[in-house]
Amino acid sequence: MSSSTDPSAPSGHLTGRVLRVSGGVYEVDTPHGVVACSLRGRIKQKDDRIVSVGDLVELDPVEGEQGARIARVLPRHGALTRHGVSRRREQVIVANVDQVAVVAALASPDPDWLMIDRLLALADLNELDRFLVVNKIDEEPGALPAPLETYVRIGYDLLLTSAAVGRALGELEERLRGRITVLSGQSGVGKSSLLNALIPGLDLRVGAVGERQGRGRHTTVASALYPYPGGGYVADTPGLQTLALWEVAPVDLSIGFPEILAAREGCRFNDCLHRSEPGCAVTAAVEAGDISRRRYESYLGLLEETGGSR
Ligand code: ZN
Repeated sequence: MSSSTDPSAPSGHLTGRVLRVSGGVYEVDTPHGVVACSLRGRIKQKDDRIVSVGDLVELDPVEGEQGARIARVLPRHGALTRHGVSRRREQVIVANVDQVAVVAALASPDPDWLMIDRLLALADLNELDRFLVVNKIDEEPGALPAPLETYVRIGYDLLLTSAAVGRALGELEERLRGRITVLSGQSGVGKSSLLNALIPGLDLRVGAVGERQGRGRHTTVASALYPYPGGGYVADTPGLQTLALWEVAPVDLSIGFPEILAAREGCRFNDCLHRSEPGCAVTAAVEAGDISRRRYESYLGLLEETGGSR
Protein backbone atom coordinates (compact mmCIF):
# COMPACT_ATOMS: atom_id res chain seq x y z
CA MET A 1 0.00 0.00 0.00
CA SER A 2 1.38 3.39 -0.91
CA SER A 3 -1.11 5.20 1.32
CA SER A 4 0.08 6.57 4.60
CA THR A 5 -1.02 4.62 7.64
CA ASP A 6 -0.52 7.61 9.92
CA PRO A 7 -3.94 8.83 11.03
CA SER A 8 -2.53 12.24 12.00
CA ALA A 9 -1.06 13.00 8.58
CA PRO A 10 -3.15 15.88 7.16
CA SER A 11 -3.56 14.44 3.68
CA GLY A 12 -2.82 10.82 4.41
CA HIS A 13 -5.44 8.16 4.85
CA LEU A 14 -5.50 5.35 7.32
CA THR A 15 -6.14 2.10 5.51
CA GLY A 16 -7.68 -1.02 6.96
CA ARG A 17 -9.60 -4.21 6.27
CA VAL A 18 -13.36 -4.49 6.87
CA LEU A 19 -13.87 -7.28 9.43
CA ARG A 20 -17.65 -7.18 9.80
CA VAL A 21 -20.65 -5.06 8.96
CA SER A 22 -23.62 -4.65 11.22
CA GLY A 23 -26.37 -2.04 11.28
CA GLY A 24 -24.41 0.45 9.18
CA VAL A 25 -21.29 0.11 11.35
CA TYR A 26 -18.17 -1.17 9.65
CA GLU A 27 -15.51 -2.65 11.90
CA VAL A 28 -12.18 -1.99 10.24
CA ASP A 29 -8.89 -3.61 11.21
CA THR A 30 -6.17 -0.95 11.05
CA PRO A 31 -2.54 -0.80 12.19
CA HIS A 32 -3.91 1.09 15.21
CA GLY A 33 -6.51 -1.47 16.15
CA VAL A 34 -10.12 -2.07 15.17
CA VAL A 35 -12.02 1.14 14.34
CA ALA A 36 -15.81 1.44 14.12
CA CYS A 37 -16.61 3.31 10.89
CA SER A 38 -19.54 4.73 9.02
CA LEU A 39 -19.75 5.32 5.28
CA ARG A 40 -18.99 8.72 3.84
CA GLY A 41 -22.11 10.16 2.19
CA ARG A 42 -20.69 10.03 -1.31
CA ILE A 43 -20.20 6.25 -1.09
CA LYS A 44 -23.46 5.75 0.78
CA GLN A 45 -25.50 7.32 -1.99
CA LYS A 46 -23.97 4.99 -4.56
CA ASP A 47 -24.75 1.74 -2.83
CA ASP A 48 -24.42 0.53 0.72
CA ARG A 49 -23.35 -2.86 -0.54
CA ILE A 50 -20.37 -1.37 -2.31
CA VAL A 51 -18.36 -1.97 0.86
CA SER A 52 -18.08 -5.64 1.82
CA VAL A 53 -16.35 -7.68 4.47
CA GLY A 54 -12.82 -8.24 3.22
CA ASP A 55 -12.54 -4.89 1.45
CA LEU A 56 -9.47 -2.78 1.93
CA VAL A 57 -10.65 0.76 2.66
CA GLU A 58 -9.25 4.24 3.23
CA LEU A 59 -10.54 6.06 6.28
CA ASP A 60 -11.12 9.69 7.10
CA PRO A 61 -10.97 10.42 10.81
CA VAL A 62 -14.07 12.17 12.14
CA GLU A 63 -13.28 15.51 13.80
CA GLY A 64 -13.71 15.45 17.54
CA GLU A 65 -15.30 12.03 17.55
CA GLN A 66 -14.28 8.46 18.10
CA GLY A 67 -14.33 6.41 14.94
CA ALA A 68 -13.88 7.24 11.30
CA ARG A 69 -15.59 7.30 7.94
CA ILE A 70 -14.84 5.04 5.03
CA ALA A 71 -13.75 7.40 2.26
CA ARG A 72 -12.77 4.97 -0.46
CA VAL A 73 -12.74 1.27 -1.28
CA LEU A 74 -9.47 0.08 -2.80
CA PRO A 75 -9.67 -2.17 -5.88
CA ARG A 76 -10.51 -5.81 -5.18
CA HIS A 77 -8.44 -8.70 -6.46
CA GLY A 78 -11.33 -11.13 -6.34
CA ALA A 79 -14.37 -12.01 -4.32
CA LEU A 80 -16.63 -14.79 -3.20
CA THR A 81 -20.04 -14.02 -4.65
CA ARG A 82 -23.31 -15.85 -5.06
CA HIS A 83 -22.92 -16.36 -8.77
CA GLY A 84 -19.34 -16.67 -9.83
CA VAL A 85 -17.31 -14.16 -11.76
CA SER A 86 -19.87 -12.95 -14.29
CA ARG A 87 -21.70 -10.41 -12.10
CA ARG A 88 -19.08 -9.90 -9.42
CA ARG A 89 -20.08 -6.38 -8.39
CA GLU A 90 -23.31 -7.51 -6.82
CA GLN A 91 -23.87 -9.72 -3.83
CA VAL A 92 -20.30 -9.98 -2.69
CA ILE A 93 -20.08 -12.31 0.30
CA VAL A 94 -16.41 -11.71 1.07
CA ALA A 95 -14.14 -9.44 -0.97
CA ASN A 96 -10.48 -10.17 -1.71
CA VAL A 97 -10.75 -13.85 -0.84
CA ASP A 98 -7.78 -15.97 -1.84
CA GLN A 99 -9.05 -19.45 -1.10
CA VAL A 100 -11.84 -21.61 0.24
CA ALA A 101 -11.13 -24.38 2.74
CA VAL A 102 -13.97 -26.89 2.75
CA VAL A 103 -14.02 -28.68 6.09
CA ALA A 104 -15.56 -32.15 6.42
CA ALA A 105 -15.42 -35.14 8.72
CA LEU A 106 -15.78 -38.83 7.91
CA ALA A 107 -18.17 -39.50 10.79
CA SER A 108 -20.19 -37.62 13.42
CA PRO A 109 -21.52 -36.03 11.37
CA ASP A 110 -21.50 -38.28 8.30
CA PRO A 111 -20.27 -36.32 5.31
CA ASP A 112 -22.82 -34.34 3.36
CA TRP A 113 -21.21 -34.87 -0.05
CA LEU A 114 -23.63 -32.57 -1.84
CA MET A 115 -22.68 -29.75 0.53
CA ILE A 116 -18.98 -30.46 0.00
CA ASP A 117 -19.47 -30.43 -3.78
CA ARG A 118 -21.54 -27.23 -3.50
CA LEU A 119 -18.74 -25.41 -1.67
CA LEU A 120 -16.00 -26.72 -3.98
CA ALA A 121 -18.08 -25.65 -6.99
CA LEU A 122 -18.66 -22.19 -5.51
CA ALA A 123 -14.88 -21.76 -5.16
CA ASP A 124 -14.23 -22.71 -8.78
CA LEU A 125 -17.12 -20.58 -10.04
CA ASN A 126 -15.42 -17.64 -8.33
CA GLU A 127 -11.96 -18.63 -9.59
CA LEU A 128 -10.65 -19.10 -6.06
CA ASP A 129 -8.14 -21.66 -4.84
CA ARG A 130 -9.74 -24.40 -2.77
CA PHE A 131 -8.79 -27.43 -0.74
CA LEU A 132 -10.53 -30.04 1.36
CA VAL A 133 -9.83 -30.39 5.06
CA VAL A 134 -10.99 -33.70 6.49
CA ASN A 135 -10.98 -33.11 10.23
CA LYS A 136 -11.39 -35.45 13.21
CA ILE A 137 -8.76 -37.87 11.87
CA ASP A 138 -7.69 -38.63 15.44
CA GLU A 139 -6.21 -42.06 14.70
CA GLU A 140 -3.56 -42.90 12.14
CA PRO A 141 -5.50 -42.97 8.83
CA GLY A 142 -5.40 -46.16 6.75
CA ALA A 143 -6.51 -46.22 3.13
CA LEU A 144 -8.65 -43.27 2.04
CA PRO A 145 -12.38 -43.97 1.74
CA ALA A 146 -13.52 -44.17 -1.90
CA PRO A 147 -15.25 -40.75 -2.06
CA LEU A 148 -12.05 -39.06 -0.87
CA GLU A 149 -10.00 -41.04 -3.42
CA THR A 150 -12.34 -39.57 -6.03
CA TYR A 151 -11.52 -36.01 -4.96
CA VAL A 152 -7.79 -36.74 -5.07
CA ARG A 153 -8.15 -38.28 -8.55
CA ILE A 154 -10.01 -35.18 -9.76
CA GLY A 155 -7.14 -33.06 -8.47
CA TYR A 156 -8.44 -31.52 -5.26
CA ASP A 157 -5.91 -30.99 -2.49
CA LEU A 158 -6.74 -32.92 0.64
CA LEU A 159 -5.52 -32.29 4.17
CA LEU A 160 -6.28 -34.81 6.92
CA THR A 161 -6.39 -32.97 10.23
CA SER A 162 -7.33 -33.44 13.84
CA ALA A 163 -7.87 -30.50 16.13
CA ALA A 164 -8.03 -32.99 19.02
CA VAL A 165 -4.59 -34.59 18.56
CA GLY A 166 -3.02 -31.75 16.58
CA ARG A 167 -2.66 -33.61 13.27
CA ALA A 168 -1.44 -31.51 10.31
CA LEU A 169 -2.23 -28.24 12.09
CA GLY A 170 1.19 -26.91 11.05
CA GLU A 171 0.37 -27.60 7.41
CA LEU A 172 -3.02 -25.94 7.73
CA GLU A 173 -1.41 -23.00 9.51
CA GLU A 174 1.00 -22.60 6.60
CA ARG A 175 -1.84 -22.61 4.06
CA LEU A 176 -3.79 -19.95 5.95
CA ARG A 177 -0.97 -17.57 6.80
CA GLY A 178 -0.91 -14.35 4.77
CA ARG A 179 -4.08 -15.16 2.85
CA ILE A 180 -7.82 -14.54 3.19
CA THR A 181 -9.46 -17.92 3.60
CA VAL A 182 -13.14 -18.77 3.72
CA LEU A 183 -13.55 -21.74 6.04
CA SER A 184 -16.84 -23.52 5.49
CA GLY A 185 -18.51 -26.88 5.94
CA GLN A 186 -21.22 -28.77 7.78
CA SER A 187 -22.02 -28.03 11.42
CA GLY A 188 -20.14 -30.28 13.78
CA VAL A 189 -17.08 -31.00 11.63
CA GLY A 190 -14.88 -29.01 14.01
CA LYS A 191 -14.36 -25.66 12.29
CA SER A 192 -14.45 -23.81 15.61
CA SER A 193 -12.04 -26.30 17.19
CA LEU A 194 -9.62 -25.86 14.29
CA LEU A 195 -9.82 -22.07 14.52
CA ASN A 196 -9.39 -22.13 18.28
CA ALA A 197 -6.33 -24.35 17.87
CA LEU A 198 -4.83 -22.05 15.22
CA ILE A 199 -5.74 -18.61 16.59
CA PRO A 200 -4.66 -18.29 20.22
CA GLY A 201 -7.12 -16.29 22.28
CA LEU A 202 -9.93 -16.53 19.74
CA ASP A 203 -12.02 -18.71 22.05
CA LEU A 204 -14.90 -19.37 19.66
CA ARG A 205 -17.78 -21.25 21.14
CA VAL A 206 -17.56 -24.72 19.64
CA GLY A 207 -20.48 -25.07 17.28
CA ALA A 208 -20.73 -21.32 16.77
CA VAL A 209 -19.14 -21.27 13.34
CA GLY A 210 -21.18 -21.83 10.24
CA GLU A 211 -24.54 -22.46 11.83
CA ARG A 212 -27.32 -23.07 9.39
CA GLN A 213 -29.39 -19.99 8.55
CA GLY A 214 -32.03 -21.35 6.25
CA ARG A 215 -31.74 -22.79 2.80
CA GLY A 216 -32.27 -21.73 -0.73
CA ARG A 217 -33.02 -18.47 -2.39
CA HIS A 218 -33.24 -16.38 0.72
CA THR A 219 -30.26 -17.76 2.58
CA THR A 220 -28.42 -14.91 4.20
CA VAL A 221 -24.69 -15.22 4.33
CA ALA A 222 -23.34 -13.06 7.09
CA SER A 223 -19.61 -13.03 7.23
CA ALA A 224 -16.88 -11.94 9.58
CA LEU A 225 -13.12 -11.95 9.26
CA TYR A 226 -10.80 -13.04 12.04
CA PRO A 227 -7.25 -11.65 11.83
CA TYR A 228 -4.84 -14.54 11.51
CA PRO A 229 -1.65 -14.48 13.61
CA GLY A 230 1.29 -13.73 11.33
CA GLY A 231 -0.92 -12.14 8.65
CA GLY A 232 -4.04 -12.96 6.73
CA TYR A 233 -7.64 -13.53 7.77
CA VAL A 234 -10.01 -16.40 8.21
CA ALA A 235 -13.59 -15.70 7.12
CA ASP A 236 -16.49 -17.29 8.91
CA THR A 237 -19.49 -17.35 6.56
CA PRO A 238 -22.54 -18.92 8.21
CA GLY A 239 -25.11 -19.86 5.62
CA LEU A 240 -22.61 -20.37 2.80
CA GLN A 241 -22.75 -24.15 3.04
CA THR A 242 -26.46 -24.17 2.22
CA LEU A 243 -26.42 -21.39 -0.35
CA ALA A 244 -28.47 -22.39 -3.38
CA LEU A 245 -26.75 -21.70 -6.69
CA TRP A 246 -29.80 -20.16 -8.31
CA GLU A 247 -27.87 -17.17 -9.65
CA VAL A 248 -25.39 -19.33 -11.55
CA ALA A 249 -26.13 -19.73 -15.25
CA PRO A 250 -26.93 -23.44 -15.83
CA VAL A 251 -24.37 -23.76 -18.63
CA ASP A 252 -21.68 -22.36 -16.29
CA LEU A 253 -22.23 -24.92 -13.54
CA SER A 254 -19.71 -27.38 -15.01
CA ILE A 255 -17.00 -24.79 -14.21
CA GLY A 256 -17.55 -25.95 -10.62
CA PHE A 257 -16.84 -29.60 -11.50
CA PRO A 258 -13.35 -29.96 -12.99
CA GLU A 259 -13.91 -33.51 -14.28
CA ILE A 260 -17.16 -32.48 -16.01
CA LEU A 261 -15.52 -29.34 -17.38
CA ALA A 262 -12.78 -31.50 -18.92
CA ALA A 263 -15.22 -34.02 -20.41
CA ARG A 264 -17.65 -31.47 -21.88
CA GLU A 265 -15.14 -30.65 -24.62
CA GLY A 266 -16.41 -33.84 -26.26
CA CYS A 267 -20.13 -32.99 -26.09
CA ARG A 268 -21.91 -32.58 -29.44
CA PHE A 269 -23.62 -29.33 -28.39
CA ASN A 270 -21.71 -26.53 -26.73
CA ASP A 271 -24.73 -25.55 -24.65
CA CYS A 272 -25.05 -29.17 -23.43
CA LEU A 273 -26.15 -29.37 -19.79
CA HIS A 274 -25.17 -33.06 -19.60
CA ARG A 275 -28.55 -34.48 -18.66
CA SER A 276 -29.81 -36.64 -21.52
CA GLU A 277 -28.71 -34.67 -24.56
CA PRO A 278 -27.59 -36.75 -27.54
CA GLY A 279 -23.84 -36.98 -28.01
CA CYS A 280 -23.10 -35.97 -24.41
CA ALA A 281 -19.53 -36.91 -23.51
CA VAL A 282 -20.19 -36.34 -19.79
CA THR A 283 -22.97 -38.91 -19.43
CA ALA A 284 -20.84 -41.31 -21.52
CA ALA A 285 -17.96 -40.81 -19.06
CA VAL A 286 -20.32 -41.49 -16.15
CA GLU A 287 -21.50 -44.71 -17.84
CA ALA A 288 -17.89 -45.75 -18.46
CA GLY A 289 -17.05 -45.13 -14.79
CA ASP A 290 -14.57 -42.34 -15.60
CA ILE A 291 -16.69 -39.76 -13.78
CA SER A 292 -17.96 -40.67 -10.32
CA ARG A 293 -21.71 -41.21 -10.38
CA ARG A 294 -21.98 -39.63 -6.94
CA ARG A 295 -20.29 -36.48 -8.17
CA TYR A 296 -22.50 -36.46 -11.26
CA GLU A 297 -25.55 -36.68 -9.00
CA SER A 298 -24.27 -33.66 -7.08
CA TYR A 299 -23.95 -31.85 -10.40
CA LEU A 300 -27.55 -32.73 -11.31
CA GLY A 301 -28.78 -31.63 -7.87
CA LEU A 302 -27.08 -28.26 -8.19
CA LEU A 303 -28.17 -27.93 -11.82
CA GLU A 304 -31.76 -28.11 -10.60
CA GLU A 305 -31.09 -25.11 -8.32
CA THR A 306 -29.75 -23.05 -11.21
CA GLY A 307 -33.02 -23.65 -13.05
CA GLY A 308 -31.22 -25.81 -15.59
CA SER A 309 -33.32 -28.94 -15.16
CA ARG A 310 -36.54 -29.55 -16.99
ZN1 ZN B 1 -22.81 -33.00 -22.29
